[in-house]
Amino acid sequence: FAPWNDPSAKPFIEFRNVTKRFGDFVAVKDLSLKIYEREFFALLGPSGCGKTTLMRMLGGFDEPTEGSILLEGKDLVGIPPYRRPTNMMFQSYALFPHMTVADNIAFGLKQAGMPKPDIQSRVDEMLALVKLEKFARRKPHQLSGGQRQRVALARSLAKKPKVLLLDEPLGALDKKLREETQFELMDLQMKLGMTFLIVTHDQEEAMTVADRIAVMNNGVIVQVATPAEIYEQPNSRYVADFIGDINLIEGKVAEASEGSAKLACAATGATVAVNQTLSASIGDEAWFAIRPEKMRISRDAPADTSVNALSGEVWDIGYLGDVSIYHVRLPTGATVKATITNATRLVERPISWEDKVWLTWSRDAGVVLTR
Ligand code: ATP
Repeated sequence: FAPWNDPSAKPFIEFRNVTKRFGDFVAVKDLSLKIYEREFFALLGPSGCGKTTLMRMLGGFDEPTEGSILLEGKDLVGIPPYRRPTNMMFQSYALFPHMTVADNIAFGLKQAGMPKPDIQSRVDEMLALVKLEKFARRKPHQLSGGQRQRVALARSLAKKPKVLLLDEPLGALDKKLREETQFELMDLQMKLGMTFLIVTHDQEEAMTVADRIAVMNNGVIVQVATPAEIYEQPNSRYVADFIGDINLIEGKVAEASEGSAKLACAATGATVAVNQTLSASIGDEAWFAIRPEKMRISRDAPADTSVNALSGEVWDIGYLGDVSIYHVRLPTGATVKATITNATRLVERPISWEDKVWLTWSRDAGVVLTR
């Protein structure tokens, strides 16, 4: 049972009505959020949405203008960064160039007054943790980007903080190394049983590493949920559009009853039926959102007339390796995207350019969004 689904679970970290102003500019607006112990939590959003500011306030590098931030029920506001049980790994890594790897890792421990033999054994433990035992005597400039990233990670973990704050930690790595490192971070987090908070603008990264994601926009949280919920049940057009590829079709509510609704979409010239209880009235504007992989594409008209269906012509096909993405042009001129995995596509005579096709989908395949 996930702690965030358990009403009796106590939050480990809590932002309570936090606002942060820089002069007239409001970077974070009356934001409340609960994060649980041992969670790998991601703050996701476009540049400037306030995610770094939120993380910096937890680390003590910025103070909220209003509201409070609690860790295990204790208010952190006013406590300087070095006295908080948090540690932040910066995007730039901020390693000391003239110090060896071992000395970089030892730095915070020395400052905290840890006895020398303990420092030595903690540094060895950290080097082993990030698999850099052989590099202890090197200087940062003698390391690859990935190795430097590990040193920064080891250094930020050395004091064994209760919460590790990761600000775009993989931004400087190339795609392949980035993906490998994501899995290493997850392993590490599990092994240490620590709470990790990561800031990223990369939705795939957030989906891969996080137990839960907060999607932010303009200083507020739009949705907090697991990666699967964010992807399958976005609560707004903003989230639907920000995460992955999606068809967003504007319409007007034509029917709304308990457990089912219909949306009349001028763009497609059709009505969409969904198994959803809408909090909207007839005539209200809304959007139908459906992932391209939830569309079935076929040369044949559907036998079942209760299914949602559109007919059109294949206008473009993008080959992406694992899948092909079909752009189907409807008689209204609108295009709808559908993907097929290439493993399936190539079995039969593939659907090709200018083919007349039917797109069909079940009533649970997409969602109607009213905001
Ligand atoms: P990015 O991914 O680009 O870092 P972000 O979502 O992390 O973006 P923040 O760094 O939190 O965004 O910044 C949010 C907003 O607050 C931005 O518009 C930024 O310009 C502004 N801001 C941040 N720090 C300061 C500051 N010290 N003084 C003035 N404005 C600031």
